[in-house]
Amino acid sequence: MLRTTFYWIKRRKYAQRRAVVPRAVILQAVGITHLTSERLRIGSNWRRLTGARPAAIFWRMQTGHHHPRRLAQLGWAALLIAWALVAAWDAQADSTRRRIRVPILMYHYISVPPPDADRYRLDLSVTPEHFAEQLAWLRDHDFTAITLDDLYAALTEGERLPDRPIILTFDDGYADAYEQAFPLLDQYEMVGTFFVVTDWLDEERAGYLTWEQAREMAEAGMSIQDHSRTHADLANNCDHDCLVYQILGSAQTIEVEIGQRPRFFCYPSGRYNDMAQDVLAQVGMLAAVTTEGGTLHVSDRPLELRRVRIRGTTRITEFAWLVSDWRE
Ligand SMILES: [Zn+2]
Repeated sequence: MLRTTFYWIKRRKYAQRRAVVPRAVILQAVGITHLTSERLRIGSNWRRLTGARPAAIFWRMQTGHHHPRRLAQLGWAALLIAWALVAAWDAQADSTRRRIRVPILMYHYISVPPPDADRYRLDLSVTPEHFAEQLAWLRDHDFTAITLDDLYAALTEGERLPDRPIILTFDDGYADAYEQAFPLLDQYEMVGTFFVVTDWLDEERAGYLTWEQAREMAEAGMSIQDHSRTHADLANNCDHDCLVYQILGSAQTIEVEIGQRPRFFCYPSGRYNDMAQDVLAQVGMLAAVTTEGGTLHVSDRPLELRRVRIRGTTRITEFAWLVSDWRE
């Protein structure tokens, strides 16, 4: 029923592979080049001592040139050195400072709020009707939903993005992420990034996603990422052990449940400090989203990605302005 051959799946896999390859390629290329030159040196010494290749020596004496076989070996060595240089140049592109504008939309509930909803719940709730209207608007205006992997690859490696990229994020892992957001995203062939609070899924809390649902979403191409274990304030009363528990603990749980290590983090209530960012980097998080408003992202601050908040009161004209004004 669910389409699984979307553009972003390929993009995401490609981005993940790209993130790993360059260093391995350099090591491999340098290793092979070194081994090859060693073998050539040892080989030619051996031949000089034993006279094992008199034909080659005779050739050289007669013509003053290297034997064609020797030239071929030197050619291969030169090729490997060139390969290592290209790989090194490719990896160096990582240090380039880049600035990219991509709206990262921040949603919470995609559902009609209950009659007794307080003003916070109302503010955080976008009805499925409005959400579908927003997706239709994005589609009609040629936007392409991308993942945070795509943005990260563009920021750090200069990967090309589609003309009008947009990232759709959903915080907290509410049940309506599966019941409402997921089918609509699927219908409009757009990828969503869902930040889950892992203890809430472990406890099978009412009103939240189950791991089974999260797995189904991930298998259909949605991105399941990390929003801590208990939604704790990471900037207050959270020491190093607490940060490791909240960040590494949730990342490992997602890896076990979904089968893929999360690489992107969403600060609970948008709260963070330097120590939280240190722990994020130590556990291998590539980037993190905040609740600070904006669409401009810089490559040297990937742990402070800005977002555009979509509220219950956001109507389509305002929505159009929010995602488009940066283009003018
Ligand atoms: Zn949250």
